[in-house]
Amino acid sequence: MIRGACLCDRVAFEVRGAIAELQNCHCSECRKAYGAAFGTVAVCAKSDFEYVRGSELVRRFVQSERVNRYFCDSCGSPLPMVEEWDPLVGIPAGLLEDDPEVRISSHIFVGSKAPWWEITDDLPQHDAWPEGGNMNERADDLKTK
Ligand SMILES: [Zn+2]
Ligand SMILES: [Zn+2]
Repeated sequence: MIRGACLCDRVAFEVRGAIAELQNCHCSECRKAYGAAFGTVAVCAKSDFEYVRGSELVRRFVQSERVNRYFCDSCGSPLPMVEEWDPLVGIPAGLLEDDPEVRISSHIFVGSKAPWWEITDDLPQHDAWPEGGNMNERADDLKTK
């Protein structure tokens, strides 16, 4: 089990399974939402994810028709993206309190990377979403169906 919590510790969750993947997202939206050079997102199955404390403090910002951002009403920490249509949950990796045991596998949206951040590792880089991993495209698919 992997535990996570926000900065004020009033919102907490557990992942009762494995973290499938860790990715650094360099898109301008994640950079702003995380207030950082990039957002590191831990992906898990929604069926493994559960809030154990403070779910009443989870607030939503509707970023676009396709994307919601969640944050703690008390401390403002970004919170996991749990969506009805998505079988996966994207967790801001900084919230994790246990070692997810996987390591960062790739950089995505490198096309919109901050000019002041240099990627110095040898991990794969994708200008946008890698094949088959696209939450936004999946949302578009649902809309057109
Ligand atoms: Zn909080
Ligand atoms: Zn992003």
